[in-house]
Amino acid sequence: MKLSFQGITIEDFERIFGDDAGCLRWLADKKWAEGFTCRKCGHHNYCAGRRPYSRRCTRCKREESATAHTPFHRCRIPIREAFRIAWICCHTPSVSSASLSKELDIRQMTCWKFKKRLLECMEHETP
Ligand SMILES: [Zn+2]
Repeated sequence: MKLSFQGITIEDFERIFGDDAGCLRWLADKKWAEGFTCRKCGHHNYCAGRRPYSRRCTRCKREESATAHTPFHRCRIPIREAFRIAWICCHTPSVSSASLSKELDIRQMTCWKFKKRLLECMEHETP
């Protein structure tokens, strides 16, 4: 899965990612854009899982959250701020963790680690 925020303006961003549910919905749409495949048994049918926007395999009942296997999984940064960082990194891959830290009031080391994780799986504009 490749994340990309290209073509999403700051106005779009505010609208789409305005709350946690919006972030999860967008992520789930991206992640399963080509349909759902259970990672355990390969089945394609699913029903809603217990958590918002998670999906559960109708055969083996394994549930997968919207954030699993994405950089947002078990992320220590609140999801909306994590998306903000992702958006910034997509448009400005050279942004420093120091300026992210300052802008979002998150520890620089946390920003640095998350940015590294993001850039590994993100489509971004090459400088
Ligand atoms: Zn399954």
